[in-house]
Amino acid sequence: MKPSATTRRLLRYFKPHRQRFVLAILLMALQALIPGTLVLLIETVLDDVLIAKDTQMLAILPFALVALYVVGGLLTVGRGMLTRHIAWDVITTLRAEVFWHLLHLDARWHQKHPTGETLARLSQDVNMVQYGVSGIVTAIQQPLTLLVLLGAAAWMNPWLTLIAIAVLPLVAWPIARFGRRLRHSSRASLDNMAELSGSAGETLSGMRTVAIFGGENERGQRFDTANEQQRQLQMHVFLANLMPGPVIEVIAAVGVGAVLWVGGKQVFAGEVLAGELIAFMVALGLLNEPLKGISKIHSLTQRAISGAESLFSILDTKPCVADQGTAEATTSTVGLDFKDVGFDYGDGPVLCNLNFKIGAGEVVALVGPSGSGKSTIANLIPRLMDPCTGSIQLGGIDLREYRLASLRRSIAVVSQEGFLFDDTIAANIAFGTAATPEEIVNAANVANAHGFIEDLPNGYHTRVDELGMRLSGGQRQRICIARAILRDAPILILDEATSALDAESEALVQEALDRLMKERTVLAIAHRLSTVRNADRILVLEEGKLVEHGSHDALIAAEGHYARLIQHQTIGLA
Ligand code: ADP
Ligand code: MG
Repeated sequence: MKPSATTRRLLRYFKPHRQRFVLAILLMALQALIPGTLVLLIETVLDDVLIAKDTQMLAILPFALVALYVVGGLLTVGRGMLTRHIAWDVITTLRAEVFWHLLHLDARWHQKHPTGETLARLSQDVNMVQYGVSGIVTAIQQPLTLLVLLGAAAWMNPWLTLIAIAVLPLVAWPIARFGRRLRHSSRASLDNMAELSGSAGETLSGMRTVAIFGGENERGQRFDTANEQQRQLQMHVFLANLMPGPVIEVIAAVGVGAVLWVGGKQVFAGEVLAGELIAFMVALGLLNEPLKGISKIHSLTQRAISGAESLFSILDTKPCVADQGTAEATTSTVGLDFKDVGFDYGDGPVLCNLNFKIGAGEVVALVGPSGSGKSTIANLIPRLMDPCTGSIQLGGIDLREYRLASLRRSIAVVSQEGFLFDDTIAANIAFGTAATPEEIVNAANVANAHGFIEDLPNGYHTRVDELGMRLSGGQRQRICIARAILRDAPILILDEATSALDAESEALVQEALDRLMKERTVLAIAHRLSTVRNADRILVLEEGKLVEHGSHDALIAAEGHYARLIQHQTIGLA
């Protein structure tokens, strides 16, 4: 997106605050009048009061002086609060918009962008926008001051003012040049920081592996490289921020020099008084500050744009999984039908021309060597991704024609990872539903989890983060099963739900799973024979192709792939 388009888009966030914005500018204009009023006051004191010996006025003036400062102070506070509020409102809106968009981006986007990186965008990039936003609002004062001073100068000597103004267009050059640089280096620094946070986040969440495999140096050096880059980029940002000021001063000095040259000649010729020329040059000198202020507005804008650019690019990312369907899934729409399904993560086909059906109420087991594409199939059903070719139908309708929430509502998944939020056990079980405490306890009972949950310090109200590592893999898994039970979805997908567990926990979890599977349509990905043997049908997958299907006994008798998988104990004999 072009910088001008980014600016326009950023400005749209200010629209709802137009009135407050105008009020802030008004307060600024009033504030800009205060120094002038002070000068007038001093002049009055000198000429009309002290020289004219006006005692009545003398009694009033001290109050006028204090009143002026009170008004000045109120204006400062009022304007400050107003501009801050606008800035905070804008970035709060922006941050929420980005987060809600992230919630609806597809699984593949999130896989590509490490959590730490995305979090850095949400904090530093949003803050960069705030920094710029508040800067822009505040810096509006400078052009006002500039105009007032130029007006005063023109009033004193229009001809010399013209000479001084002649150099002003030159000022645009450093502003534009360093502004561009600032935007680029600021963007590079934000990107680098996001990368740094992504990698650091990954390292910290994998600390066990880092420690066990002695990877401290490797991860540390990786951090050092990015950290050093960050230092250099910060220097670029600093320089690009600093440079316009001095360059503008030099250009302004050229103007003042020209005025001195022409004005000096006028003084020699007796056309202008020496005092007049000096007063004029003082006025010109005062122009420097507002000029630099204007360049500051520009650099703050550029930094805000650099932050906004990456946020807008997140907002512009369309989820690969579009939610455009309108059909509603019901408890009776349960038969799944894969038709010529092909899938590809971008480096070669992972699934090729898959054709199979899972009838209503059927338990189908999916087996195959690791990497054959089993989890990919499991992820296609709740549409974490869509097939690249072919289609998957539920109850005779393409998955894409269902409203996404309605489709997902009819599917429960228990996978190997057993993810729990840092919340209470009860909230983890009820996640995504509005279950009553009784329903939660019932679900935990069915999932063989009630017993150990009751033994926890605060029972169902124990927070998972308080427990830290105290929950075993089997316990976590049973909480996840309770969650799936509460969901009461007609379709159930089990992706190696018991494979990470020891034999004892597996028995408890398997029992829970058997109860969960009752009267549902099930796709069970398993590597243990115990689950597979009881399935109505077994599908054998190899390198993304369906190579065999049938019952356990029939497949053993066929002495094909399945028989070999069992022989090589890829499917464990439990
Ligand atoms: P399984 O569950 O049978 O072990 P997967 O479905 O997880 O197999 O993976 C199938 C193939 O797709 C593997 O070759 C794997 O490397 C690849 N794969 C899985 N996930 C991704 C991903 N997010 N990006 C790229 N390739 C992937
Ligand atoms: Mg897998």
